[in-house]
Amino acid sequence: MSVTYRKQMLEALRRQVSKYEEVICEAVYADFKKPRFETMATETQLVLAEIDHAIKNVRQWSRPEQVRSNWLNFPSSDRIYKEPYGKVLIIAPWNYPFQLAIAPLIGAIAAGNTVVIKPSELTPNTSAVIAKMIMEVYPEDYIAVVEGGVEVSQKLLSFQWDYIFFTGSTQVGKIVYESAAKHLTPVTLELGGKNPCIVDETAKIDLAAKRIVWGKFINAGQTCIAPDYILVHSSVKQQLIDSLKKHIEKSYGSQIEASPDFARIVNERHHQRLLSLLEGQEVIYGGANNKEDNYLSPTLVLEPDVESNLMKEEIFGPILPVIAYDTEEEIQSYITRYNKPLATYLFSTRKRYQQKLINTFSFGGGAINDTVIHIANKDLPFGGVGSSGIGAYHGKLSFDLFSHHKSVLKKANWIDIPLRYPPYTLPKKLAKKIKWMF
Ligand code: NAD
Repeated sequence: MSVTYRKQMLEALRRQVSKYEEVICEAVYADFKKPRFETMATETQLVLAEIDHAIKNVRQWSRPEQVRSNWLNFPSSDRIYKEPYGKVLIIAPWNYPFQLAIAPLIGAIAAGNTVVIKPSELTPNTSAVIAKMIMEVYPEDYIAVVEGGVEVSQKLLSFQWDYIFFTGSTQVGKIVYESAAKHLTPVTLELGGKNPCIVDETAKIDLAAKRIVWGKFINAGQTCIAPDYILVHSSVKQQLIDSLKKHIEKSYGSQIEASPDFARIVNERHHQRLLSLLEGQEVIYGGANNKEDNYLSPTLVLEPDVESNLMKEEIFGPILPVIAYDTEEEIQSYITRYNKPLATYLFSTRKRYQQKLINTFSFGGGAINDTVIHIANKDLPFGGVGSSGIGAYHGKLSFDLFSHHKSVLKKANWIDIPLRYPPYTLPKKLAKKIKWMF
């Protein structure tokens, strides 16, 4: 695809997202009552910003990159060409059903690929809108949407692709990786994990609570980078709990079920799963639920047993465990119980500990003195590490991710330095010194 064509296709996408923004908000609302502002901020507007950025820069990104040659290759000019992989498969989850299907599409189009998108079957209204708005403007052999569930996904995975971009659970990520391996297809796996959020005794507690409440309960906690559990220094535990309660009520009022700003759990199965995680736990706030509407209120749990299911799996809902610690060693031993998470958060004013945390623990990304918001900077790579994923995207990285970087050396013919050809006559003493030519 020429760069001009790619730009036109990105412009078409921008027009479609703008035209359908209202319909998208309604569809996501119909799927799990996600508040309109949340849909605009975390789905449509975020995607529009990425599209604008790609349109502005795609020509520059696509240019062959000249790199320095070396003496061994003299005289040559060496370049990296950005070649589209070819046929890309994007499989999306339900929790940010629009953003996570379309954000990777932007990079795939910018890099010149053709794409098949498989949206999540658990958010059927959004899936239908994605199919409609994409099919309306793109030829089917360029970009197509294939709707359906696990069987459709598996069928798609049985074909040979040039790149697979998957967002979803770690468990399904392994299935995708296995399918890709059959054809040696490169993958990006955007997966999940148990994200710790540490609050130490030097943190600005009230502000920390406000930012934690926002990051945890946006999308009703169904966010891959939401804080999963809090580790708080025991000296400020009660103060933090009081502030968390205060900010939950400031955000959603005392009748949270009636608040237009709090989403629902995506379906009955996940609602039931979350309720079962609460069994036997000490709920110190919330816990209200309504099966009719898959409603579960923001819920605080005190000191859950590490062996309980709540602390074994990614919570992915509005339940926030609060666990006290006294020493940094306790933080270390708690965090390292789990595989590398997608995100880690620290609230602290101790610069040395901030740095120590960054240097000590491996995690996909994160924030100091905030939660979730690092996703909104398109210059920060977004992705996991270890069991929370492979690869990262957003901004220019999305373009690079969907491009094969093809190295080409162009040699001149006017001279041919004989050094490398047999018979090898260079004395050993000199051969030991040729590294400067590389
Ligand atoms: P999921 O893994 O159940 O489903 C994701 C997609 O895979 C869906 O389109 C689904 O149809 C398909 N799928 C499901 N089972 C399959 C199978 N056996 N074979 C082939 N395809 C299959 O994930 P989900 O429940 O939709 O999303 C929640 C998970 O996604 C959480 O673990 C969350 O942390 C993670 N997530 C990660 C990111 C990220 O950017 N890293 C973003 C959002 C969600």
